[in-house]
Amino acid sequence: MKGQPRVAGLAGAMLAAGKLPASLLFTGPEGAGKELAAMWTAARLNCEAPGTCGASATPDSRGAAVCQACDKIGRLEHPDIHIVYPLPSGPMEKTVPEIIESRRADFMASGEFEGKARSIGIDQVREMIREASKQPFEGKRSVAMLPEAHLATVEAQNAFLKLLEEPPPSTVLILATDHPDRLLPTIRSRCHEIRFDALPDEATGEFLSLFYSVEEREAARLAAIAQGNIRRGIRLLDPRYLGIRADAASMLKLVLAGKAARLPAEAEAAAREYTREETARLMEEMVFLMRAAMLDREGRLGPQRRSELGKELGAEALAAAAERDLPRDIRKIEASSRNLSRNVDLELTLVQLLLDLAGKWY
Ligand SMILES: [Zn+2]
Repeated sequence: MKGQPRVAGLAGAMLAAGKLPASLLFTGPEGAGKELAAMWTAARLNCEAPGTCGASATPDSRGAAVCQACDKIGRLEHPDIHIVYPLPSGPMEKTVPEIIESRRADFMASGEFEGKARSIGIDQVREMIREASKQPFEGKRSVAMLPEAHLATVEAQNAFLKLLEEPPPSTVLILATDHPDRLLPTIRSRCHEIRFDALPDEATGEFLSLFYSVEEREAARLAAIAQGNIRRGIRLLDPRYLGIRADAASMLKLVLAGKAARLPAEAEAAAREYTREETARLMEEMVFLMRAAMLDREGRLGPQRRSELGKELGAEALAAAAERDLPRDIRKIEASSRNLSRNVDLELTLVQLLLDLAGKWY
């Protein structure tokens, strides 16, 4: 919560005054820490030693022992915390208990489903309503959480609406989403919305050093590349993902330098190396690089982000980027990325995109 002082202050004040609304909606950009904040709220509601417990994260309690309730919440083992995760619609390689097990080992380990079509179904919501309607089993308050709430189907959202209309007295409902516009307006209007800002790089870096033992300077570098998105920061710890990022940068460098002749070979190599999901990530990273170049042009990129971007793209490419219609470039990449979800040829899609960006057509 350290990276979200405004949210922490707001939620902390409501909690301290015992005036936490029965239904909260956390909105804001991806990777801003909404899900972590939901866990923090659940811990604050059930903490056995508020003020002295290490999980309540007051300045005095940092590093202190964590109470049993907060410990169980952190390990996703608390019987009164109910979380509904979106699941892939197709056949699953893992069972739900296996997924929860991997989340226990690493709370942010949602990578296995990223890029796949997922949803929250009505049966999952009904099961949650049954659980959340019971009296708390061992804690003070039950907490029902819907991370990525926009992935709930319309039927599931309608079922959830019933819970919002008549929340059980000891239950707090927390929805989190990057896309509040995809929620039913009736759901939105019944929740107290708290908007998150993108996470400052210092907070992302600190999170990576603290929870993933990343060396401080490397953490700062990854935080600058992650651009305020803690999930991307964690993804970048994976060497394969870091490789995708590097490939995105080298392709853009060629595009920006007008070296179109080398692009087909690059696209071919990438299509051989990467899966469909990874190719989508590659394009997403191109968008992130273009956005950073846009901010740089406007003088709105901080010094560390600026220096990392310079290392990735080089001064020449950055100067070329400044002359371009970058929003148009971004729209082109996003359109190609959408095509990937259809059954198009990977190599062809990528080569067309790169040549289009380079302004060359054969
Ligand atoms: Zn505690």
